[in-house]
Amino acid sequence: MQLTIRNLNKTYANGVKALQDVSLDIPTGMYGLLGPNGAGKSTLMRTLATLQDADSGSATLGDIDVLKDKDAVRRTLGYLPQEFGVYPRISAVEMLDHLAVLKGIPGGERKGVVSALLQRVNLWEHRKKAVSSYSGGMRQRFGIAQALLGDPKLIIVDEPTAGLDPGERNRFYNLLSEIGENVIVILSTHIVEDVKELCSNMAIINNGQVLYAGAPEASLAALQGKVWQKTIAKSEIEDYQQRYGERLISSKLVAGKPIINVYSNDDPNDGFAAAPAGLEEVFFSKINGVA
Ligand code: ADP
Repeated sequence: MQLTIRNLNKTYANGVKALQDVSLDIPTGMYGLLGPNGAGKSTLMRTLATLQDADSGSATLGDIDVLKDKDAVRRTLGYLPQEFGVYPRISAVEMLDHLAVLKGIPGGERKGVVSALLQRVNLWEHRKKAVSSYSGGMRQRFGIAQALLGDPKLIIVDEPTAGLDPGERNRFYNLLSEIGENVIVILSTHIVEDVKELCSNMAIINNGQVLYAGAPEASLAALQGKVWQKTIAKSEIEDYQQRYGERLISSKLVAGKPIINVYSNDDPNDGFAAAPAGLEEVFFSKINGVA
């Protein structure tokens, strides 16, 4: 099964071009859709989830025409939106059972399906608590349980790790990596770490355009020898920003001192040392339009 997206376009009424000729081939496994806020990720996710229409283009999932045959997509889709509403006093087991009814899971199977899913996402012992009382990480795991109802072949998770603390994020990564084997899981995120940890394929998008599509390792290989690093003083940051502009692709503080990374085909001859490229550098060199 593959999801094939061709020349998808969407312009909102206010003139914002949220998708511009987006074409992607998405195989089974975990697929990272990486882009900063406002890149067009949610627009793409919501279009694939049949919640809104594109202006033009096509998307096919196996032999399903995603943009036209919405009922068929919905039967095989699991969707974890950025925010999902929960009823105040309803327990996880009741809510999942209710969602299973809506998904059309037959009465005889429902109890077993609901129990198995709650165990799978590690919420069994909390099943009688209200979902509204859950922590962020527990809520997202509940979100995965509901997305898995009905054995979907396509699972879409929109910015699932925003707001999770590092421990919760790790547990959530483990859960996602377990489900991504025989299905297509599209993970939209602005957090490079998410893609690094989980995804065998990825796309980087910005301003509604695909800037890179392929394996993360291939993007790293293409950047080898082009990242140059230097530790500078805090007071020098603006100087370097002026000097290198968009080619200054990342900076981080290590023990209170800024370490900057610059994109350059050759040694800038400015006291820099060659540095290994990370996905962070790939991301910012694409977003800044220098690579
Ligand atoms: P992301 O999920 O990557 O943050 P979005 O798809 O939400 O990006 O948004 C892409 C662009 O479209 C942004 O500039 C956003 O402000 C704009 N946008 C999103 N939804 C609407 C809408 N309903 N009407 C007008 N503009 C929108």
